Amino acid sequence: MPVADWAMSAAGMVCPKCGTPMNHQADKLVYPLTRAEAASMTAAFDGVLEEVFACPNCGWIESRRTTPVSEQR
Ligand SMILES: [Zn+2]
Repeated sequence: MPVADWAMSAAGMVCPKCGTPMNHQADKLVYPLTRAEAASMTAAFDGVLEEVFACPNCGWIESRRTTPVSEQR
């Protein structure tokens, strides 16, 4: 598959250090750090979800907060 295809995938993440496609390692629940995050919490989660990715090449760990559906309006 061409690099551009997976790089543009919503589910994928590329290592910022070496450009290797990262493995989706875990989803973890974290507590909101800001009022905006707290306001975006749904009744279903007592916190916000954070996706964790690991680079198989250099071992870099990257994480990102998932965007709540309610903020996409
Ligand atoms: Zn890497």
